[in-house]
Amino acid sequence: MTASRVPRAIRELAKTELHQHLDGSIPPELMWRMLSRHGLNPVPNYEAMERRLVLQPDEEGSLLAYLDKFHYPLWITQFYENIQAVAEAIVRETLRHGVTTLELRYSPVIHTFAGLTVRQSIRAVLSAINRVRVDHPELRAGLVVIAMRQHGPHIAKILARQTVGEAEHLHERAGVVGFDIAGPERGNPPRLFREAFDVARAGGLGVTVHAGEDAGPDYIWQAVDELGAHRIGHGCSAVRDPELLRRLARDGVVVECCVPSNYQTAAVAAGEPHPLPALLDAGVPVAICTDNTTVSRTDQDIESARVAAMLGDAGVETVRGIHREASRASFIGRTRPGALAR
Ligand SMILES: [Zn+2]
Repeated sequence: MTASRVPRAIRELAKTELHQHLDGSIPPELMWRMLSRHGLNPVPNYEAMERRLVLQPDEEGSLLAYLDKFHYPLWITQFYENIQAVAEAIVRETLRHGVTTLELRYSPVIHTFAGLTVRQSIRAVLSAINRVRVDHPELRAGLVVIAMRQHGPHIAKILARQTVGEAEHLHERAGVVGFDIAGPERGNPPRLFREAFDVARAGGLGVTVHAGEDAGPDYIWQAVDELGAHRIGHGCSAVRDPELLRRLARDGVVVECCVPSNYQTAAVAAGEPHPLPALLDAGVPVAICTDNTTVSRTDQDIESARVAAMLGDAGVETVRGIHREASRASFIGRTRPGALAR
């Protein structure tokens, strides 16, 4: 699917983006300008830089190649103004694709290498959202804070404590709405992070967990049963477990589906059908998400069109319904202790 092939009916839909990472969504032109300004360009020209940021066709199906795309953004996103600038560019770009509800996500700890505190690192993104909302007060937007699995449960708990201080309901304007874990799944089961999520939930934050992307359905069960997940990031392996599908459907646990990245990281094997239609058939609510717009060279229009095409005749109407329901599943405006069920 390419931008030029997105049907008008999709372009005009009001869309909900619940799973988009800041680091993988920085416009390459902006990255190039910032690296040049800081004298940090690792390559001689823009085209070479773009190849380092966008997954190339011969790199598809390799998790390592995918993760390598997150290397250079961290060189410049260590300073308040830079984080603010890239976040503002990303939020403005989503508006061009009809996004009316946006949850951006971000791991503040890996943006503190030059001395920012975690709270400053979070506020840099929030302040960017607030800047955009000056011109676009209709945009519903918030931040999901990610703890990296490889930093361990103790750092995750400390991060959760700091994050609840930036929860949306404690502030006048945009705030943190959710808490998540990401990073290498296997060997780092969700249950290790239980205390961090207890802190996050007690602080009123929504809970979403990257689970079942590179690991089996047992990790999704843990995310739901032990971390109290309201939503699951990726959740590809859920389709292998009918009982889990019934559970997700019963409790309305939304699976945030990111179609292109699932093939690029080999979470779904090349040639295999994507689990999204099977999840819908099982009554599991889904959201259509971009994950990383730069790495996957995509946007919310392209992803919505891709899913509509996947669903056949009633595709556009189904996609409209998915975005409407996903908007209701957003944590924005719901971050008071006890406000989110489960
Ligand atoms: Zn993700």
